[in-house]
Amino acid sequence: ELKLILEQSELDNQQNQHIKWEGTDFPWTAELDNKLKSVFKLNELRSMQRQTMNATLAKEDCLLIMPTGGGKSLCFQLPAVISKGLTLVISPLVSLMEDQQMALELLKIPSAIFTSATSKEEAKHIQEDMVTTKGHLKLLYVTPEKLAKSKRFMNRLEKSYAVNHLTRIVIDEVHCCSQWGHDFRPDYKFLGILKRQFPNAPILGLTATATINVLEDVKKILNIPRALLFRASFNRPNLFYEVQEKPATQKDTMDKIFHLINKRFRGQSGIIYCFSRKDSEEVATDLKSRGIKAGCYHADMTAQSRSAVHRKWLSGDVQVVVATVAFGMGIDKPDVRFVIHHSISKSIENLYQESGRAGRDGQRSDCIVLYRLADVTRQSSMVFTEQTGLPNLYGIVQYCIDVAKCRRSLIARHFGEVWESAQCDKMCDHCDRAQCQVKVKDVTHYCKDLVSILDAAAATQQRVTSAKLLDAWYGRGPAGVKVKSIAAPSLAKDQAERILAQLLVEGYLREDFHFTAYSTICYIIPGPKAKLLRNGGVKVAIDFVQACDQSSKNTVKDGSAAPSSDTPHRVKHKNNSETSNVKVQKNKLNSK
Ligand code: ADP
Ligand code: MG
Ligand code: ZN
Repeated sequence: ELKLILEQSELDNQQNQHIKWEGTDFPWTAELDNKLKSVFKLNELRSMQRQTMNATLAKEDCLLIMPTGGGKSLCFQLPAVISKGLTLVISPLVSLMEDQQMALELLKIPSAIFTSATSKEEAKHIQEDMVTTKGHLKLLYVTPEKLAKSKRFMNRLEKSYAVNHLTRIVIDEVHCCSQWGHDFRPDYKFLGILKRQFPNAPILGLTATATINVLEDVKKILNIPRALLFRASFNRPNLFYEVQEKPATQKDTMDKIFHLINKRFRGQSGIIYCFSRKDSEEVATDLKSRGIKAGCYHADMTAQSRSAVHRKWLSGDVQVVVATVAFGMGIDKPDVRFVIHHSISKSIENLYQESGRAGRDGQRSDCIVLYRLADVTRQSSMVFTEQTGLPNLYGIVQYCIDVAKCRRSLIARHFGEVWESAQCDKMCDHCDRAQCQVKVKDVTHYCKDLVSILDAAAATQQRVTSAKLLDAWYGRGPAGVKVKSIAAPSLAKDQAERILAQLLVEGYLREDFHFTAYSTICYIIPGPKAKLLRNGGVKVAIDFVQACDQSSKNTVKDGSAAPSSDTPHRVKHKNNSETSNVKVQKNKLNSK
């Protein structure tokens, strides 16, 4: 309860800040608006940009939380242009700095990058520029390592500060300070001394990571307890979010994608994201053979052929770019009408960023994930070595297998925002089929059967993949892992898969990885919570969506898009004429 009250007061406080700082009557307002147009060639500011710039120009410490692509850089670049002196920008990656410097060069704004790779001569030049009020550099980018390791550089900063030339300190990707974040970097800890050494230089921290834990931690580490918090919404109201079942074969999958591009998105520009380079080549080749103007884009291609594809896509000669995640940086085509994920991405954050390349012009655009359990295994074999790889992956699996909740609310929850489904305005597949009734059914016996099969396999030292587990459950395939006493489930395959996925997400089952000479194999084993199923300490229930009103307004343009109508096998079986969702209820029956 206390936490709720605190959160509420934090929200109120934030609301007040947002209003207080959005004014257009500050001494610098005219110049700010002027330089926005004349230097940056932009017409208007986006949400929270003015607030943040006003606050930092008023020398307040602040933190800006804004989704990737939202426009955080402008919030320090424009103030740097209209302020006297130097803005120090701390950024974790040299590649990020180089991107920004290239953009600044085009805008004729003097900037420099100072890293351990900077030549002696260049370093000398930069360090001379820093300590004189006549210095011409507006922005100086450094890595946190440089600050932490170079006493000489810190000495120069002190001199710069002493002559009133160090105007502002910006910390990009500021969540890297916190061990709670997904990207902790030890050198960011050192940044705590900046406030002590340079108390009058305002600090501006930027991040797309919004959880309270991380933000509180960041304030503590940077010694800016009273920093103002500006939070831009992660909601993109013009994006329609949707998940469709991915067919079992490549042929059927391509039929589906072709149908989407040829009918629903006819003549419109889009991106298809694929799991691997090979996938992206196969999908592009297939689409081309069907007469779609498609181009492939991945990291194995030469820079030349990549930029050729990009260019043709911008000009409309290519309708669809079929790409890996390498297609990202610097993509701001305004009229991208659809982003299709041929396989699930590795986290909600990735999905948000990748699908967020659609609809930059504010027009309705569609973000479709093709989901299938087999792709989860492919992704998990890649990401399991990363610290938070599997939890992040299971986050998006949860998003995909849910059949009832507003997709937008699931994304918002991930970013620490609260959403009413009503605010979605029917802009996701679930909100769009409003008249569905959700029924919860007990499937504990099915879950126990799955654990029993795995226990039996373990007893005979057999390893079981998810495909093999499902086969054994249905009594198919070689005798090996089948258990006689277990009856085949009266469920359609997709429902069985959903149960399996949910048990993974909830920790009743676990993925277990083994290296072979050529690949990583992923087996399924009982998870940390399997004992709750064995000893009857838990009840597992499924959401069934039934009796959908299919007169949805938003999704169906070609008759194939409504998820409840395009999978005939669900309608065929009498018992299974429903879409299933799996949810594990944590109401323990007799846990001791
Ligand atoms: P972030 O750091 O938040 O991920 P960037 O600062 O890299 O985002 O900006 C993403 C893109 O948005 C850039 O191409 C930038 O030029 C553009 N942008 C930023 N602010 C505006 C604005 N007010 N109007 C139009 N485009 C903008
Ligand atoms: Mg950025
Ligand atoms: Zn919704």
